[in-house]
Amino acid sequence: MIEIQSLIKTYGGKPALEGVSFTVGEGEIVGFLGPNGAGKSTTLNILTGYLSATSGTVKVGGIDVFEFPDEAKKLIGFLPEQPPLYPEMKVREYLNFIYELKKCTLNRKKHLEEIMQVTKILDVKDRLISNLSKGYRQRVGIAQALVGNPPIIILDEPTVGLDPKQIIEIRNLIRNLGKNHTVILSSHILSEVQSVCGRVIIINEGRIIADEVTDNITRVAEDGRDYSVKLCGPQREVLSALRAINGIVFAEATGDRDGDAVTYRVRSESGVDIRKPLFYLASKNDWPLVGLEAIGMDLEDVFVRIMDADERKNHR
Ligand code: ADP
Ligand code: MG
Repeated sequence: MIEIQSLIKTYGGKPALEGVSFTVGEGEIVGFLGPNGAGKSTTLNILTGYLSATSGTVKVGGIDVFEFPDEAKKLIGFLPEQPPLYPEMKVREYLNFIYELKKCTLNRKKHLEEIMQVTKILDVKDRLISNLSKGYRQRVGIAQALVGNPPIIILDEPTVGLDPKQIIEIRNLIRNLGKNHTVILSSHILSEVQSVCGRVIIINEGRIIADEVTDNITRVAEDGRDYSVKLCGPQREVLSALRAINGIVFAEATGDRDGDAVTYRVRSESGVDIRKPLFYLASKNDWPLVGLEAIGMDLEDVFVRIMDADERKNHR
């Protein structure tokens, strides 16, 4: 459905993309993950025909985006990082305007009602866009991408700036879109793409460093992970007992105290689940275990691991 080959983009001599290639098949929901400045927006803006490339090719549904931009654009609904909203328009008026702009031929009233229903904006259709909350505005942005019912939907950081409740709503909306669209969703948050996407493509400094099914990325990210362990017991004894557990490579008190409970940061060896030995240690010594939590990794940590894993694979 989407084929990107050796994409290079330089901004005034500075490289932003250094040979990006990937393909996305029909019906996939793909997460495009990378830290700020990695090249996500540049890639998506080129893919959607809004920005030229320095070199490389992009095909959408078999159509070359650089040769036939109008035809290719018809297949894509795009929510750019800065949604192109007109604050002085009312929601319905704006979608009508987009309908005209895209020269849509579907039954106008029915089509726009359907879109407003799917994106849950029917209750604000007569409100000015400038008066909408950020969450509603984002949904209007997704609604404009759906006008014309394009088979491919591309969303550039659709949940940035939203509160947790709005994030959950937008995620559910994206999951639903994935049932009958090919979707690419960019993000700089691992957990975000993990929860929605079947596959994750990771970009860093203008290069693709991983392209895997989400389960594989999750495995790399969680292998040998850190836990926060809260135990009631004499700190010195607890620490030496923790360090004696097979599979624990590191244990230290964090300095957090809560009555007689002390919090420790513990790192497990790759491939070892330390939760059961922890439980048995606590119960054998009569040290109540009052907290056990996996510590989430940020994207930086995940990158380091993925690049390490990649190197190990290449040197084997
Ligand atoms: P991301 O979306 O992953 O945060 P971008 O694609 O926006 O990354 O940016 C990739 C790189 O290109 C960054 O180093 C950024 O500073 C640079 N860049 C992006 N847009 C422009 C532009 N219009 N002019 C010059 N440099 C740009
Ligand atoms: Mg961006």
